[in-house]
Amino acid sequence: MQFSDVDRLSPGDPQQIAADLYARFLEVFGREADGVWFAPGRANINGEHIDFHSGRCLPMALSHGTYAAAAARDDGILRLRTLDPALDDGVHTIRLCDVAPEGAPNRVTDGGSCTLEAAPSWTRYVAGTAWALAALGREHPELAPAEGFGADLLIVSTLPIGGGLSSSAALECATALAVIALGTPLGAQHGGATLDAALTDELRAKVASACMRAEVEIVGAGTGGLDQTVSLRGLAGDVLSLDCRDFSVDWLPAQRLLEDFVFLAVDTRQAHWLGDGQFDDRRADSEAAADVLGVEQLRYALSAQACAADVPRVLALFDGRTAGLPQVAGRPRAAVRRRLRHALTEMVRSEELAEILADKASDAHVAAEDVAGMIGQIMYDGHASMRDLAEVSFPAANTIVEAAVRHGAPGGRLIGGGFGGSVLLLSRRDDVAALEAAVARACAEAGHRRPRFLEVAPSAGAR
Ligand code: ADP
Repeated sequence: MQFSDVDRLSPGDPQQIAADLYARFLEVFGREADGVWFAPGRANINGEHIDFHSGRCLPMALSHGTYAAAAARDDGILRLRTLDPALDDGVHTIRLCDVAPEGAPNRVTDGGSCTLEAAPSWTRYVAGTAWALAALGREHPELAPAEGFGADLLIVSTLPIGGGLSSSAALECATALAVIALGTPLGAQHGGATLDAALTDELRAKVASACMRAEVEIVGAGTGGLDQTVSLRGLAGDVLSLDCRDFSVDWLPAQRLLEDFVFLAVDTRQAHWLGDGQFDDRRADSEAAADVLGVEQLRYALSAQACAADVPRVLALFDGRTAGLPQVAGRPRAAVRRRLRHALTEMVRSEELAEILADKASDAHVAAEDVAGMIGQIMYDGHASMRDLAEVSFPAANTIVEAAVRHGAPGGRLIGGGFGGSVLLLSRRDDVAALEAAVARACAEAGHRRPRFLEVAPSAGAR
């Protein structure tokens, strides 16, 4: 079997994509778009299943992402269409005043064609973001959409949808920028690209929290805010070191340090499905562990430095408090202990990775080979923890990581929530094609779907 023709997903040429989108917008809505906004997807080098426990995450924004072409309206209506082949079924119309969380007094559920109920679920990410920005605007008037604000929006993405690379956050963040540009005082003051600079990191953090609110309250998905933060606050060439205790970020120069190495995302084409309750189960297990330890979130069970020596101490405390119990907080004790071990070790790995990147950045003589080796080992350890302790991995992801090990790639791990989605590999730049072929062959031999490869470089946030 030949594997020279592996499937690749290119980020495309942004100028060309925008030009095509302007043309399609005119066809679809019969009017010109006022602009095109872009927000990237994300890949997390370390820090999975710990953002909601206030851990540290080391993600990067990708060059792949979601584009929104938009034109303003003044009748409070959103008209939305996606060009994703699997989701596109024409234009959907939603009255913005009807968008509210489940059970809210102003929620319209009469089945009318403009209600959120009548539209497909993807439109909730868009309508929810406009709703959440209006809520944010009560505190930050510069970000408040004007009375009667509405828009026509046409969406296209270069990310796999449901592939664990945050197409959902990219959709929210591209929408947020379009709404801010077209409907708010900040947008009116700063036309075109000057809005990118006017959106300071502080404002971007607030917009990220609005996008997260949209996902939690309007879509109804559990997100800890990591994805939206990366999509809005990414910097070209850098990995974010995101402390989820306060959402403060340090930007670490990964690309410069890694020189001859690149990150490769592998979409397993097995869409992750968080809705079947498994993700929520894992989260409930880890919350039971926090209960036993008497902390709100597991980060607070570790010392301020979150070092390796903390792990046995915290596990001993857990064991002492749960000895002989088959269950804790209604969940199997052994499973709760595994989730605890995953969270603690993942948090420690994040601290170590942040330290490596920060230290090496200030060392002029460090070899990229050494940095790649250290980062790669953290990735492999993270994968083993996702597989054996968090228990969120799945056969295709394990096959890909095992193939990477056999091939001699420096690192690899499952990223995202698990149960499907993508694997992130670290590869020598001149070995990418051979690694892709080895992974594709291993997937075929194991009977998994044909994977798709995305070469991902740390990129700038939404613009
Ligand atoms: P991911 O890891 O890709 O974020 P999610 O399951 O969290 O996976 O989000 C995927 C959902 O986001 C899709 O099912 C759809 O509702 C929405 N979505 C993402 N991108 C698009 C797009 N380009 N067009 C329409 N909907 C999209």
